[in-house]
Amino acid sequence: MGGDRIVIIGAGMAGVATAYFLTRKGHDTVSIIEREKIAGTQSTGRNAAILRTMIPNPLLNRLARESAEFYRNPPEGFSTEHLVDCVGVYLAARKEHAATLQKWCDDNPEAGLELSDASQIYDKIPVLAPGLTLAAYKHDDGVLDVHTILQGFLQGATQAGAELCIGREFTRLEIRDGRVVGVQTAEGFMEASKVVVANGAWASLSETFSGYSLPFKPYRRHLLVTDPLPQVNPRWPVVWIVGEEFYFRPESGGLLMSGCDAVPVTPDQGEITDPSQVERIAAKAEFWLPTLVDARIARAWAGMRTFVPDDLFVIGPDPRAQGLYWVAGLGGHGITCAPVVGRMAAEWIAEGECRHPAAESLAPKRLLK
Ligand SMILES: Cc1cc2nc3c(=O)[nH]c(=O)nc-3n(C[C@H](O)[C@H](O)[C@H](O)COP(=O)(O)OP(=O)(O)OC[C@H]3O[C@@H](n4cnc5c(N)ncnc54)[C@H](O)[C@@H]3O)c2cc1C
Repeated sequence: MGGDRIVIIGAGMAGVATAYFLTRKGHDTVSIIEREKIAGTQSTGRNAAILRTMIPNPLLNRLARESAEFYRNPPEGFSTEHLVDCVGVYLAARKEHAATLQKWCDDNPEAGLELSDASQIYDKIPVLAPGLTLAAYKHDDGVLDVHTILQGFLQGATQAGAELCIGREFTRLEIRDGRVVGVQTAEGFMEASKVVVANGAWASLSETFSGYSLPFKPYRRHLLVTDPLPQVNPRWPVVWIVGEEFYFRPESGGLLMSGCDAVPVTPDQGEITDPSQVERIAAKAEFWLPTLVDARIARAWAGMRTFVPDDLFVIGPDPRAQGLYWVAGLGGHGITCAPVVGRMAAEWIAEGECRHPAAESLAPKRLLK
């Protein structure tokens, strides 16, 4: 089996989506290796779960819209649950940031946004502070069921022959004569003809890639959830205030919120909660949701969003080493875009080319110039 084996490093959303689409193409010699005891415990288990197709960059916007179609109409047998709760997503701005929001809409004419003054938001969420003047609404975006999506990809892949090697830590990529030959793990060597790097923030640890590294950088972001609040209607839409970098949505009877912090970190620091950032979220909440000022914080946590310098995803072959592929740098949109990310990665790995119009722009080659 070793000779034909494809090893995927990381069982987060990127790794399991890639495995799923590889098995759909008939590859059953796929091994996903995951250091943790449970799949999806890093960024995939620490995010806001928002399906937000309104990404300003038109390439990623397209990936998000195509992925949303998958979530709204998943393939037969993927899951018995709904994958997305279409509560709607508003992007809204005060007068001084309205031009930014307007530009995002102008740059993405196919995004299907309803642009209006902000009165609709105030009708739906009366506790929101005044001052918003422009709103872009997407009625069929909303909140994703991350756990069900992860399980859908994972079960689809393993039922088709892929193996999940849980508790197995990748330590070094092995390359001979310009070709991938396998990976070293804490449990020993695994032979493979293709290796897929899908280990999120840890893709930035260049020493593990035998000199074949790419410029990934993880950034930490915090979220908090309040205790249940009688003022909160669980059917409220997601609200993202552009320029002020504050967003919130209903969660467990209260609100989930972020102040959109982005502090560069090393992966070992990325999940350490910084109390000053939690206070910063609370201060933004006090401004935008003043009547909820007494809300108690039920829990707060941090996770990593990983980027390369152009902020685009990195999907495809590394031209420096035959058999080496990257599916990383998914930044703040890796859950929203996972279906198309996985499909593109599988096409590159299985067919040696990817026909998606964004393929070349997202391929690792661009980072090596
Ligand atoms: C606060 C926050 C809010 C976010 N909100 C959203 C949102 O609302 N919508 C959205 O679409 N996206 C959101 N994101 C982004 C999203 O979470 C990420 O883009 C996505 O989870 C990245 O998935 P991944 O599989 O690349 O990484 P990960 O989920 O981190 O998976 C990488 C996996 O690799 C494993 N691994 C690492 N090193 C090794 C090793 N040496 N050996 C074996 N295994 C290893 C890890 O244990 C992990 O399981 C948010 C992120 C954060 C931090």
